[in-house]
Amino acid sequence: MGLTEIETRIEQACIEAGRARADVQLIAVSKVQPNARVEAVLNAGHRLFGENKVQEAAGKWPDFKTQFDDIHVHLIGPLQSNKTRQAMELFDAIHTVDRPKLAKTIARLAQELGECPELFVQVNTGEEPQKAGVTPAEADAFIKDCRALDLPIKGLMCIPPVEETPSLHFALLGKIAERNGLASLSMGMSSDFEQAIAFGATHIRVGSAIFGERTHD
Ligand SMILES: *Cc1c(COP(=O)(O)O)cnc(C)c1O
Repeated sequence: MGLTEIETRIEQACIEAGRARADVQLIAVSKVQPNARVEAVLNAGHRLFGENKVQEAAGKWPDFKTQFDDIHVHLIGPLQSNKTRQAMELFDAIHTVDRPKLAKTIARLAQELGECPELFVQVNTGEEPQKAGVTPAEADAFIKDCRALDLPIKGLMCIPPVEETPSLHFALLGKIAERNGLASLSMGMSSDFEQAIAFGATHIRVGSAIFGERTHD
């Protein structure tokens, strides 16, 4: 695998879905990958990355940003309220807005900082107890509350249960986005990004298929 092969597969999936390649953003998920692998992908010209931990991202991306222009980094992992300020200063987008307390904290800090990353609401489409995200039943009300706080909600994000057909979850996420007038869908990983593209993903989050297997999470 690697970046070139993934790019080819994305192009093919876009053709099959009758979608423009420009409407799908590839987030290269660089969590726990050795810096040399990340640098290789930067040298290949890729500029959009995903991290799931604030601390790890803070230790890595400020340095890379001094070496490469136009880097964008998205937070795709759970966000603790006490790390919200740091996350808002570090990331261009946060895909994991998943509870009222976090929404309120982001709103307060956005006022104070005068800016806010793009936001995605995480939906726990499989209603798994161990997973973050609002349930599909709570989603409409939560999105409304976020908008009442003036939060720039750009779209929705989901991580389907591992043993289930991902397309059902992608379709559900698309339906919730549509009825709430949201244009962006963050869904699809190494094992299912082509299906996600077929179901309208605008942001796919691909890690191991680009960088190689991770030794830990
Ligand atoms: C790690 C991670 C990914 C990437 O997973 P791969 O299977 O390596 O592509 C995508 N989304 C989230 C939320 C992740 O934590």
